Order: sequence, then structure tokens, then C-alpha cells
Amino acid sequence: MSATQTVQLMDGTSLAKRLVKEAAVKAAEISQRTGAAPCLATVLVGEDPASVTYVRMKRARCAKAGIKSRHIGLPATTTAAELIDTLAGLSGDPKVHGILLQHPCGPHIDERAAFEAIAPEKDVDGVTMHSFAAMSFGLPGFVSCTPGGIMRLLEAYDVDLAGKHAVVVGRSAILGKPVGMLLLAKDATVTYCHSRTADLSRIIQEADVVVAAVGRPRLIRGEDIKPGAVVIDAGYNPGNVGDVDFDTALTRARLITPVPGGVGPMTIAVLLAQTVNAAANQLGIQHH
Ligand code: NAP
Repeated sequence: MSATQTVQLMDGTSLAKRLVKEAAVKAAEISQRTGAAPCLATVLVGEDPASVTYVRMKRARCAKAGIKSRHIGLPATTTAAELIDTLAGLSGDPKVHGILLQHPCGPHIDERAAFEAIAPEKDVDGVTMHSFAAMSFGLPGFVSCTPGGIMRLLEAYDVDLAGKHAVVVGRSAILGKPVGMLLLAKDATVTYCHSRTADLSRIIQEADVVVAAVGRPRLIRGEDIKPGAVVIDAGYNPGNVGDVDFDTALTRARLITPVPGGVGPMTIAVLLAQTVNAAANQLGIQHH
């Protein structure tokens, strides 16, 4: 198969823009009808520079889309109990519609316990056990943002998943595991791979859809991609490098996400879309 003939890039930047525009229209409608904009609370423990940047970026995108944000910056010395108190307070605050706890929170904090203090109806980042169960059971609820973004990309490019073999490389709670559940819900046959998987190359060679969610630059090589496969690279490594060796994968894939400009922009777009939906649900607003 020749790259120039058949491969198509999956343009996450454009799709994300469309999603954000839709979210902005809904946010404006909510503001107009209720007198208050949808509001996302962002919680950050400590001052890890990458986390500070992520939160700033998310808040800036919210502002552009007409979503208010309320930032709670807690000192690195915050205890788990104090963090849980803060999150429980936001969960009960009717002016807050969505809650984002930026992680990692620091080694002294039980992150799972902290996430669980987020009310399911405000879990717009899709990090609670409730949201994971909803994703797994195919019930309504919020999805983890990156997996949600991946599913929207697959849908936008008309990838029929039924009966297809999807191989997910990575099994983190926020990315690998939930994306596998969402693929399963679309009737794909899902294989999870991880650091203890034997013969990763052979398994990837059988994949109709590969989702790379590892955090290892260019781990997945073109020669392991089945000709005509769909390749989703969620990896984001220093130097704007994905988990897939893009240049070699390009010669075999039918559809592939670039890094950057593929999965990355979709994550924030889903966060904004879910925040607006959370506000609409909580305020009893139905969109036209
Ligand atoms: P993570 O929590 O570190 O998980 C990495 C997973 O990869 C683990 O399940 C690990 O297996 C597996 N793994 C590690 N080395 C492997 C190897 N050599 N072969 C096979 N599997 C291996 O990472 P994450 O948070 O899921 O993130 C993964 C990547 O996605 C990172 O590059 C991150 O930057 C990126 N990401 C992007 C976005 C976005 O918005 N685009 C959002 C989140 C994450 P074990 O479970 O056995 O340790």
C-alpha cells in the first residue's frame, strides 16, 4: 500500500474546534436563560510547573467558550483530608457545575480517595469510579476526556468498530482502561497490552485499530502496523513525539492521528463539552 494513495490524517485540531464552538453556543444559551454561565472548578495541589500550565490552558479555553472557571490552588502541604473537604465542598456548591482535580496531587495523597469526593454529576473529567462504571456498562455519564476524544475522532472518520480487533497499548485508569471499555461498547474485540505483555509486536500486527497510550516515544513501529489499520496515538512525549513512529506508520495505516494535532486537542474539547452538559443537566435546561 502506498502512503500517498490511501493514508488520511485524523485532524483533531479541526474537530476539537467544532466541538468547542458547539459548547460555546450551549454555554451562551445557558447564560442567557439562567443569568449565570456554566462554571468549572479547577483544583491544583502544589505548583508543579506542567500542572500549572495545564490548568492555565484549560481555564483560558473555558473563558474563550463562555465557561466560567473558579480556581482553587492549594499548597503542596495540603493533606488528603483537606483536599477531600475542598472537593466535597465544591460538589455541594450549586454555583459549580464541573470539577477538575489536576493530577498528580503528590505522593502523600491518596488520589483515588480524592477523586471519589467529586460528585458524579460534576465529574466532567470522568475520573470517578462511578464514571468508569458508567463507561463500562454503557450507561449515561461522563467519559474520561482523552478516551472520549478518541471515540469522537473515530466516529468523525466513520470508523466502524463492530467486530474489529482493537489493541489498546496502556492500561492507565484515565486513558488505556476506559478507552478499551468504550471500544468494547462499540462492539470491537478489545485486547489490552501493558508493560508485562509478551510479544507486543505480534499482537499489534493483528490490530485493525491500534490505540497507543503508553508514554514511550515511538514505541510502536510502522512494520508492526497491519496494512490498512487505524492508528490512534494518544502519546505525548517531550519534543512533541508520540508513542507511534509516525513516519513508518504512515506507510501502512489507513487513518492515523498526528502528534500534535490529533488526540491532544480533543481532550480539552471534551472537558468543555462535558462541563456545559453538566451545567445544563443541573440547571434543568434542554438544548434546542
Ligand atoms: P501511564 O499512567 O504512565 O500508563 C502507561 C501505560 O503504558 C501503563 O499501563 C504501562 O503498563 C504501559 N507501558 C509502559 N511501558 C510499556 C511498554 N514498553 N510496552 C507496553 N506497555 C507499556 O500513562 P498515561 O497517563 O496513560 O499516558 C500515556 C500517554 O498518553 C503519555 O504519553 C501521556 O502524555 C499521554 N496522554 C495524553 C493525553 C492527551 O490529552 N493527549 C492525556 C493523557 C495522557 P503497566 O500498567 O504495566 O505499568
